[in-house]
Amino acid sequence: MQLYTKIIIGMALGVVLGFLVGPNSAMLNHDGVRLTNAARILVEGRAGAAVATNSSGIRSAKIIERKGDKAPWLKVKWQLSNKDVFRLQKAAQDALAKKTGKPSAILGAKGPKYKIGAAYSGWVKNVEPAVSTYSLFGQTLVDYTEWIGRLFLALIKMVVVPLVFFSLTVGVASLGDFRRLGRLGGRTIGLFTVTTVMSLIIGVGLANIIKPGDLMSVGDKAKLLASYEGAATNTVANAADAPSTMDQIIAIVPSNPVASIANGDMLQIIFFALMFGIALTLLSEERSKPVITLLDNCNEAMVMLVHIAMMLAPIGVAALLFKVVGSTGLSVLVALSVYGLVVVAGLMIHLILTYGSIVKFGAKLPFLPFLKAIRPALMLAFSTSSSSATLPVTKECAEDNLNVSNSVSSFVIPLGATINMDGTALYQGVAALFIAQIYGMDLTLGDQATIVLSATLASVGAAGVPGAGMITLAMVLTAIGVPTEGLALVLGVDRLLDMFRTATNVVGDSAATVLMARLEGDDLKFLSEEDDAANPKKGFEGRVDNEPQPVESDVSDED
Ligand code: ASP
Repeated sequence: MQLYTKIIIGMALGVVLGFLVGPNSAMLNHDGVRLTNAARILVEGRAGAAVATNSSGIRSAKIIERKGDKAPWLKVKWQLSNKDVFRLQKAAQDALAKKTGKPSAILGAKGPKYKIGAAYSGWVKNVEPAVSTYSLFGQTLVDYTEWIGRLFLALIKMVVVPLVFFSLTVGVASLGDFRRLGRLGGRTIGLFTVTTVMSLIIGVGLANIIKPGDLMSVGDKAKLLASYEGAATNTVANAADAPSTMDQIIAIVPSNPVASIANGDMLQIIFFALMFGIALTLLSEERSKPVITLLDNCNEAMVMLVHIAMMLAPIGVAALLFKVVGSTGLSVLVALSVYGLVVVAGLMIHLILTYGSIVKFGAKLPFLPFLKAIRPALMLAFSTSSSSATLPVTKECAEDNLNVSNSVSSFVIPLGATINMDGTALYQGVAALFIAQIYGMDLTLGDQATIVLSATLASVGAAGVPGAGMITLAMVLTAIGVPTEGLALVLGVDRLLDMFRTATNVVGDSAATVLMARLEGDDLKFLSEEDDAANPKKGFEGRVDNEPQPVESDVSDED
């Protein structure tokens, strides 16, 4: 069976199992409850004593009894935290003080004793927006299988930094001509800007026509705001640290390249590799050749590592999707379905119109076979929601399946994975309008132009990791004066939409790569599986299986 067939089976399995037995499963009994912010538990047997959730937002409790299905109360059991004990004791003392008329300070430690960590039971109102139920068994399953996805992801991510460094240095050194490099760089950045603005025009246009925000009910809005409030505040806090655009440009030049490599700072690594490659071309061949050969061999070893890690992909993606689908509540999906559909429709239009034209008319390749050639990267982007983790596979697809040269792919793809995020930009455009519509704010044409500009910058600033677009969305909202608490409205489906926008980001990078390769005169063509078989250096499975053979035959030749 082909690797991508196995990956598709893994993805399907992850999604189906996620819906069936994930923590929010419709099939399993919901015996756990998550309480956020405003929820209060009335402690049993202690009149008036209640604990609110802790300031970080969420706490979980086990449901042990329900009172009816309509307007129900849930009886829950949970363990007292330090804060709970403090609050309960204070509440009890205040009550006693009221009853006896003595100031609570005099009563001192009198009154009921609560123990930290002891199990208590109490009642909570199920109708409050801050309460959501889930399956404890499903959650346990997710907790126990989560490591598989994380392990797979770590294996691929391990390769990203050395791969970019080795391949880009070798790529630049083999370009051998600065003018070519300058031309490639200028064209690539120009194309990235045009496609990002295109994606925003599509997203903002759609959100204006369909107006998903006007279609949401008041009840759903209150529920979403209450459930995701805490998380939205955290997101805004993270966004506050984002540096200014000028600082970001200066920060591309690393003062210590070893630190950039250690921190995985992609733009700095790209800059250093470019300069290092240029320096190598200026040395005499006697000096540069051994270095380039060494780096080239290191690069090949990294590529081999990607192929080894990809053998785990089917299981890895199943585990990743199981977690994502299992942790997203169905009710959130329903409430945000129109918004989600507008985002996905916008991404599809951008994919077909913008990328379709670039690939067909620019790179002169038929679009569907092109998508087929980058299938492994697409599926990985979708299941990991990280264009940076997908990078090694995107690069392999371009080189192995489309015959793009290393000098083009090693420049365009890492740069694209870092700054070219059309899917993220489009998503931010729709989200900003959606939130403004819910708040009943009318955005002028000028505001909409500000969205296009700020979302373009925000998508450049977003890292290629899950949820990055959500953090920089706070910048876009601030730019047009929409309250950032509005992030709470879209947070519930962010992880799911992230899969679609990351896949779009990766197609965008690949489309730019083939166009640049065509302009640089690469001999673009679809390499078939027979090509793979004929050339042991090609193909995801072929390489791992076949690589040792030439070495063996070398040995026998010498015999
Ligand atoms: N996850 C996206 C990516 O890696 C970025 C984002 O939109 O959050 O491309």
